[in-house]
Amino acid sequence: MPESPIRRVAIVGGGPVGSALATYLAQAGVRVAMFDRGKRPSILVGESLVPAIVPFLRKLGVEEEVARYSTYKPGATFTFTPEKRQSFCFAEVRGCQTHYAYNVPRAEFDETLRRRAVACGARLVESGAVIERDSEPDRVRLGEATLAAASEALDGAPDFIVDASGRNRVIARLLEIRSIAGQRRDTALHAHMKGVPLFIEGNIHSDRIDRGWSWRIPLPGRVSVGVVVPSDHLERFGDNAEDQFDNLLRGDSMTRLWATDAERVTPVVKYTNYQLRSTRGVGPGWATVGDAFGFVDPVFSSGLQIGMQGAEALAEAILEGTPAAFARYERLILHSLTAWQRVVEYYYDGRLFTLIEIGERVRKTFFGSIANLHFESHLPRIFTGESTTSRYNTALLNFMIKNALRGHDPRLLEVR
Ligand SMILES: Cc1cc2nc3c(=O)[nH]c(=O)nc-3n(C[C@H](O)[C@H](O)[C@H](O)COP(=O)(O)OP(=O)(O)OC[C@H]3O[C@@H](n4cnc5c(N)ncnc54)[C@H](O)[C@@H]3O)c2cc1C
Repeated sequence: MPESPIRRVAIVGGGPVGSALATYLAQAGVRVAMFDRGKRPSILVGESLVPAIVPFLRKLGVEEEVARYSTYKPGATFTFTPEKRQSFCFAEVRGCQTHYAYNVPRAEFDETLRRRAVACGARLVESGAVIERDSEPDRVRLGEATLAAASEALDGAPDFIVDASGRNRVIARLLEIRSIAGQRRDTALHAHMKGVPLFIEGNIHSDRIDRGWSWRIPLPGRVSVGVVVPSDHLERFGDNAEDQFDNLLRGDSMTRLWATDAERVTPVVKYTNYQLRSTRGVGPGWATVGDAFGFVDPVFSSGLQIGMQGAEALAEAILEGTPAAFARYERLILHSLTAWQRVVEYYYDGRLFTLIEIGERVRKTFFGSIANLHFESHLPRIFTGESTTSRYNTALLNFMIKNALRGHDPRLLEVR
């Protein structure tokens, strides 16, 4: 294969995804200038990983370091009513290649990946980068000062620009790329707390609450708590994020069971309008990756998995440098975002856990136990991230959702 014409790359955004991409490219001998403006909230969401990320951490050479400051995550616990709870242990997922994941303090995690990129030869430029629209259609260029900084770091002008700016989505906004918004109009409020009880150590805990859902992510010495609530519902809990978070935790019939004696130890950070997927992620001389390409929803912790998958696939496309390679990358990520979106919708409308409940009952019968062997080999790996994009597995899930729920009312488990 002829050598890729792309030898110098400017990456805008040094979050986990930009840093992973920078590492792969620098390791392959591509010159990389990675811009990061370093402006981050005091705590960051994106703390719970799915097992499918672990092979990327190994490939990047950072798993041991990440494990040192993170919590080992053996599974996930979902609570629907005080009496109805389902726990999943990754080690029991049939055919699963990685039997665990981590809950990571994000500041340390981001720093580990950034340092790794630099150790592999990427140049970190600690300032905000400006991308501008070019006079030619569908093209972008770096702003003057950014170009000067990149050219100095790269020893020449970049051949390619990557937007890894997260929810800033610089290129998508600049080129007015059509995006698809999810159906939810939720606000997520996030803080760290002490004294939060858990059912299973290390597991992420997700509760269906009066309106919306909450997460509990155990981190060393504290628990990350989030509530994901329809935005119009929040107003009744106060005028600011702190009051809304504290009052909702104490007032909700589900969270008050575990939050009453817990203490919030950080300010509250608020996220809105995050369900947004671009319909394109590549163009002439540019690509987007990670949240800058799209983000589905926090509920299954898929954000960093899609991002890491994207970083690896985009690195391969850049190293190949052909239109076909970029089209492959774009297809993969569009497919991944769509696949996760569907699973997320099944969660919110109650069909997913209704199906899981039916499965629990059916597996106790003779024929059910045989059929169940097949389903267990395919369906749970959708949620560990290992086979979310497998066409067979998603078709099986869709088939089951369509055919197995007859006579059952999924609204009983709907997240309102
Ligand atoms: C409420 C909520 C909960 C979530 N929970 C989870 C979870 O549990 N697990 C999970 O996997 N994912 C979760 N996510 C998603 C996860 O946070 C993101 O998918 C992940 O952080 C994306 O990484 P990234 O590198 O693409 O972007 P980011 O982490 O946002 O990094 C982007 C970087 O670019 C920098 N930047 C931006 N603009 C510029 C510029 N112009 N110049 C220079 N630098 C710039 C920023 O400062 C930042 O450092 C959650 C998201 C939300 C909204």
